Amino acid sequence: MWGCDALNARHPGRLQAVLNALDGMSFDRREAPLAERLALQRVHAGDYVDLLERAFAQTSEGLVRLDPDTFVSTGSREAAYRAAGACVAAIDAVMAGEDDIAFCAVRPPGHHAEPQQAMGFCVFNNVAIAAKHALDHHGMARVAIVDFDVHHGNGSQTVAEHDARILFASTHQSPLYPGTGAAYEHGLDNNVVNVPLPAGAGSALWRQAMGAQVLPAIDAFAPDLILVSAGFDAHKADPLAQMELGEADFAWAGNALRELSLRHCKGKLVSTLEGGYDLGALAASAVAFLGALQRD
Ligand SMILES: [Zn+2]
Repeated sequence: MWGCDALNARHPGRLQAVLNALDGMSFDRREAPLAERLALQRVHAGDYVDLLERAFAQTSEGLVRLDPDTFVSTGSREAAYRAAGACVAAIDAVMAGEDDIAFCAVRPPGHHAEPQQAMGFCVFNNVAIAAKHALDHHGMARVAIVDFDVHHGNGSQTVAEHDARILFASTHQSPLYPGTGAAYEHGLDNNVVNVPLPAGAGSALWRQAMGAQVLPAIDAFAPDLILVSAGFDAHKADPLAQMELGEADFAWAGNALRELSLRHCKGKLVSTLEGGYDLGALAASAVAFLGALQRD
C-alpha cells in the first residue's frame, strides 16, 4: 500500500481515517514517491503541468483556485505529485512481482482531472497516469479502469476516448456532478461503458448494473491489469450523493474484481482512492473492499 501523508487544505481527516482503518490489515505500507514529469505527461499536456507549477509557486501567498471546486495550498504540490507517484510505483511493484494487489491511499483524488484542466478536487488523473505507465512503460496491451466512485470519472473517460487500449467502465449517480457519463457514450471501440443510476438506486440495482454491464465488459476486454478508481462516496452515509450502498457492496465488488483479475491478469489489480466524504463510512468501506481483494 502506498500512503501519502502530505495533506492539502481540503478534508485533511479523510486520508488519516483510511490509514487508521487499514492498520490492522496485512499490507506492506510504503511511502509514495513524487511522480516524474514523464509519467504525468503521458496524460497531461506540458502546458498544464507548467500552469500548475506556477499555481503551486503562488501558494505561499494563500490558496490558489484552479477550478470552482479545486484549490491548492502550500502542501498541495507534494500531495498531488505523491498521489500520482504512488500509482506509478504501485504499477512498478505489481509488474516486478512484489505483490499482485496494491492500494494507493492518496489525496487529492484524480478521476475528474482532464488532460488540460483540474476539476472536482482533482489535480492529476492518478488512475489514468497509472494506466498509461502500465501500457507505455511496461508494454501491456490492455488495461481496464473500473470506477465505482459515485461521480462519473470524466477525466479518465477522456483519456480512454483517445486510447483503445484502455477500457473505462463506470457506475455513477446521474444526474450529479460533473454531469457527464451518459450510457450512449461508447468511446473508440466500445471501450467506454457508462452505467448512470438514479439517486436512491441502492444495493440491488447497483449490483445488477455491475453484474450485467461492468463485469462482463471487463471479462470481454480481457485486460492484462485491472485498475480501480475506488471512491466510496456511493455509501449511504455519504453527504455528497444518494446511491445508498453499504460496506457489503464494496466487499462484493472486491470479490468480483479479484475473480476477474485472477482470470485475466494473474491477479494484478491496483486500486486508488477517489472520493468518500463520511469518515466512518469511508474507512469501513475501504476495509471491506480491500479485505475482499486480499482473500486467496
Ligand atoms: Zn466522488
